[in-house]
Amino acid sequence: MSTAVAPKLDIQKTRKDFPILEQKVNGKPLIYFDNAATTQKPKQVIEAISEYYEGYNANIHRGLHSLAEKATTAFEESRTVFQKFINAAEVEEVIFTKGTTDGINLIANAYGRKFLQKGDEILITAMEHHSNIVPWQMIAEEKGAILKVVPVNAKGEISLEDVDQLITDKTKIVSVVYASNSLGTVNPVKEIAKLAHSKNAVMVVDGAQASSHCKVDVQDLDCDFYATSGHKMYGPTGCGILYGKRAILEEMTPYQGGGEMIQNVSFEKTTYNDIPYKFEAGTPNIADVVALKHAAEYIDALGKDNIMAHEQALTQHAHDRLSEVPGINFYGTAADKVSVVSFTINNVHPYDAGMMLDAKGIAVRTGHHCTQPLMDHFGIEGTIRASFSVYNTIEEIDFFADSLKDIVAKFS
Ligand code: PLP
Repeated sequence: MSTAVAPKLDIQKTRKDFPILEQKVNGKPLIYFDNAATTQKPKQVIEAISEYYEGYNANIHRGLHSLAEKATTAFEESRTVFQKFINAAEVEEVIFTKGTTDGINLIANAYGRKFLQKGDEILITAMEHHSNIVPWQMIAEEKGAILKVVPVNAKGEISLEDVDQLITDKTKIVSVVYASNSLGTVNPVKEIAKLAHSKNAVMVVDGAQASSHCKVDVQDLDCDFYATSGHKMYGPTGCGILYGKRAILEEMTPYQGGGEMIQNVSFEKTTYNDIPYKFEAGTPNIADVVALKHAAEYIDALGKDNIMAHEQALTQHAHDRLSEVPGINFYGTAADKVSVVSFTINNVHPYDAGMMLDAKGIAVRTGHHCTQPLMDHFGIEGTIRASFSVYNTIEEIDFFADSLKDIVAKFS
């Protein structure tokens, strides 16, 4: 039996940062294994939201008064923290969005609408989240472009040979998930970016899951865009970032108009603001962006290497212990994967398992996880998904495995 090896992390101390974990659910201590849907928030993030509303709530950028200046400084500090967090070359390359979905829609509408032409190709993979499928389908339909899909194998991996073969002179956009939310698979996005660039296509990385689990260095990956969500990395819901290379962002035409994104407006002609502001129309989600900075700092303080070591140990232990459950079938057994364990159990519907686990205080996700084409590929309706985070423990996984054995026994 494996044990968690994360000598530099004090998990019990870390757990105290997350007030929500102290509660009981259905009379049992909460075991939160739904981190791929959204992570819990440390008190540093929660307090930052209250501090903003209690201390310096004001609209940003335009005000001259002290509160407006304080809010603007805090908001822009968050941008600088994120520049460093993803190692962007310039702070102007960081755009605040509502999250990954919003970021990918921005690329589809502000890049795709301008640069795609009839017959051009967009390449994605079979393991994409709906938010990295549907925006491309919509813009492809509008522009007469073609969506192509890299297949996945039985382990839930894609091959670089397939990517190489599917990228053609007509490919204009390659958009790939860094870490799959349904399978956990980590994709070789750096190598894919090289293949995309060899045909002058832009490389988009869906970083929704990766930001809290993988090292993210957008310059090293050499991606053209990187979209992520704050709420999946211990930050608030409704905010995220989109990274884009300066030269590309400057060429793009904003698709949302309004305040903030303009330089000058007259009824005859409007000129746009500089990046990143030309993509940030209207009053942004100031409180949550300010708090998001604390999420990035929280991750940095724990150390990505330490987090990854702990999560890998949990994932390995989960695979070992869950293998004891009769009739279990795993989906996503790639060598390189984040802390997601997806499975079905013969003769047990995922929803029944989910409900029975909830009665024991265990929160997992069941269903298609917004990856219906991937579920179709495996010929299943959905899976039971347990996804682990920095505050989860080996003991929780043991209780989970034992609970699943009890559930299977009830069905046999
Ligand atoms: N991409 C992946 C891989 C995801 O897991 C998710 C959310 O589950 C998204 C995109 C969409 O993120 P959001 O709903 O925060 O926009």
